[in-house]
Amino acid sequence: DMEVAIKVVVVGNGAVGKSSMIQRYCKGIFTKDYKKTIGVDFLERQLLVNDEDVRLMLWDTAGQEEFDAITKAYYRGAQACVLVFSTTDRESFEAIGSWWEKVEIEVGDIPTVLVQNKIDLLDDTHGRIDHEEAEGLAKKLKLRFYRTSVKEDLNVNEVFKYLADKYLQR
Ligand code: GDP
Ligand code: MG
Repeated sequence: DMEVAIKVVVVGNGAVGKSSMIQRYCKGIFTKDYKKTIGVDFLERQLLVNDEDVRLMLWDTAGQEEFDAITKAYYRGAQACVLVFSTTDRESFEAIGSWWEKVEIEVGDIPTVLVQNKIDLLDDTHGRIDHEEAEGLAKKLKLRFYRTSVKEDLNVNEVFKYLADKYLQR
């Protein structure tokens, strides 16, 4: 069997938990002050989907998203995408549409998932982004929606399993 390798881009505003999510999924760890390892473009993890070996390469940014300076090289050849916003950051939710457009412009229509991260902080921020609102956006963009806590390791594996499945079914 040939191994399938999939380039996955993880996009969204700064501080929503993208680097933490990649680190959690690929290394199984969570730290409060993760800094991208200089010189590493992506981390990878292998998984088995219907007896097929799949290698996911999760591309991280070095924080350029905060300056709207993500290069074309980051998106080039991307085959799947995770759009992330944070429970505690309304702006990050409102920016999802424009992130989604950027991905479409750079790479077209690829398997994509919408993720609300930091759901362990739902109580602290009651009402900022309610469930219906987030699901409404997912419906509008026609995307599968997951709520994750990278900190508590909730639903992170499911996000990537879904993308791998979806990619193989295309
Ligand atoms: P990025 O800028 O999108 O890459 O975000 P980071 O991965 O650097 O995370 C920003 C901050 O949010 C860090 O302090 C993380 O530890 C924290 N963080 C990430 N995910 C979660 C989560 O699920 N819950 C909580 N409480 N904090 C998180
Ligand atoms: Mg980061």
